[in-house]
Amino acid sequence: MSVAVRLPDPKVRLTLAQLAQMQKGAARHLTFNLTLACPLRCAHCIVDAGPDKGSTTMPIEVARRYAGQMADLAAYGIRAISFTGGEPLLARDQLQVMSDAAGAAGLTSGVVTAAHWAYDETSAAKIVGRYPGIQIWDISTDIYHTPFVAKENVSRAYEAARRLGRTATIRFTYHDPPTEEDERMLSWVGTFADPEDVCSQRVRKVGRGLDLGLGDSEKYHPWNKPCITQGLVVRYDGSVAPCCVNLVEERRHPFDVGDPRLRLLSDVHRDYMSLPLLQMIRVVGFLDVVRWVQDADLEAELRRPLPDDVCDLCPQLLTNDRVAAYLVNRAGAPENRLRIAVLASRLLDEHALLRRTIEELGAHAGEIEGFADAAALLQSLDDPGNGNP
Ligand code: SF4
Ligand code: SF4
Repeated sequence: MSVAVRLPDPKVRLTLAQLAQMQKGAARHLTFNLTLACPLRCAHCIVDAGPDKGSTTMPIEVARRYAGQMADLAAYGIRAISFTGGEPLLARDQLQVMSDAAGAAGLTSGVVTAAHWAYDETSAAKIVGRYPGIQIWDISTDIYHTPFVAKENVSRAYEAARRLGRTATIRFTYHDPPTEEDERMLSWVGTFADPEDVCSQRVRKVGRGLDLGLGDSEKYHPWNKPCITQGLVVRYDGSVAPCCVNLVEERRHPFDVGDPRLRLLSDVHRDYMSLPLLQMIRVVGFLDVVRWVQDADLEAELRRPLPDDVCDLCPQLLTNDRVAAYLVNRAGAPENRLRIAVLASRLLDEHALLRRTIEELGAHAGEIEGFADAAALLQSLDDPGNGNP
């Protein structure tokens, strides 16, 4: 029997409360990309992973160092950890030490895997059972995975995770609009997975996906749509990404928060949550950002026409040195920074930027419009340690 699985409606409108809820989850979530090694070489892979990338794997001593900070992360306010790659199950020892520590610290952990390891029921159960700290098993599949891994591995991994009492999700990637092959594949997913367990996203023009010759999506994505990053990504090599979407493997973004191998992860995360430009796109989207680019006559720096999907637009803006520097400076100008901080505090219940802004700009309070009100807002927050990172 097959159960109909629906692709997401991109026109869905979120209320402010729903957006705040979604963004709050991201603010308490940290992703570790353990490796770019992967037994598959999917044509749409946004991180260009493959079997020849073993040298990228996070050294075990670095994984141990991160594992040693899980209790601190929990005390700081992080609630969930994700492990991605490449194929994180190729970095088994790193995954073990970090997920065990996360579990011991009371954090919820999830892993994203293509299930090459689920070649029979016994192996599938053994692998899932080996990681008691991992509650959520996100199993990826789509038409680009199937040339490399049997479809049955996917259903086996899903069943094994469920049998062992874990949450199992099928992550399905489709074209926009979906092709007949996508539809067939999705029907097959419906033969074993609960529709509630299927999470879909469209193929992205990033990494190897760039070579697929896909057009820009121009249908549903206004620039006022906010950035819905799932939070900070700590990569295998000590670099960081602001999201696991189009900037996941990009080095030329302006959100530098230092080397997490040399700092406390909680400090790195606090800096990430205090980036004015990032907070601005998370709260109000890209409309003002695009206006700023127009004000500064920087449009000529960009490819035209600008894509309307914000995750396609974002790398165009942020990987251009001149444009990114201008935007960072303008968002960081005292009055803009203060406004963004107040919006993030009021709308998303995230106060890191407000605290830091009041602290750092206090000497110039009299010169910044709205400073006194913002300071009063900060004071009115019940408990400065209220768990908001
Ligand atoms: S999409 Fe996933 S499974 Fe495919 S090559 Fe990339 S990391 Fe591996
Ligand atoms: S808008 Fe930019 S930072 Fe946000 S999720 Fe998309 S690509 Fe990442």
